Amino acid sequence: MGFSKLKIPKVCEQCHKPFEAKTITTRFCSNSCASKNGKERKKQEKELQEKEKILEKYADKIAILQHREFISVSEAVVLFGISKSTIHRLIKQKLIHSVNLGERLTRINKMELEKLFSPIIIYKEDKQEKELPKKYKKEDCYTLSQVSEKFGANPSTVTSIIKKFNVPKEKIGKFVYVPKVEIDKIFIRQ
Ligand SMILES: [Zn+2]
Repeated sequence: MGFSKLKIPKVCEQCHKPFEAKTITTRFCSNSCASKNGKERKKQEKELQEKEKILEKYADKIAILQHREFISVSEAVVLFGISKSTIHRLIKQKLIHSVNLGERLTRINKMELEKLFSPIIIYKEDKQEKELPKKYKKEDCYTLSQVSEKFGANPSTVTSIIKKFNVPKEKIGKFVYVPKVEIDKIFIRQ
């Protein structure tokens, strides 16, 4: 009996339907699910890259916006890396509230957007910041945006958890780095 006769019960990673796989490494029920999954992953990677690009460009502005409750549409574009039309659509569909202070003066609540999108995070520099212990290299660390993205936590939660657990962090260039092992330990326990 060859391996081709194997039937392994599995759940498709794309459509989440059960199927019988011919090899243990099969992840999808069909070619169409496999290609859909690849496309989605590429899209996510592209989105992340675009966010990082915005971050480079608007680092100082983002640092200020993070501490504001209400922001303008163009500020939301910068902070969340989403398009103006997306924001207007959300307002129209009443998925987020807006306050109109006059022509071109629409203000939206940042918290509402944080529930829908993961924002770009810049950590405000802290004078007594602990340095990253030498044993951690950059590749052993997450940036704050990556922590937020990976664990689905909003930026204020991420920063308060880092403070609460006294996680070592270090600002290198425009990003703040925190050790993966320490973050994983905290978030997986919670
Ligand atoms: Zn499938």
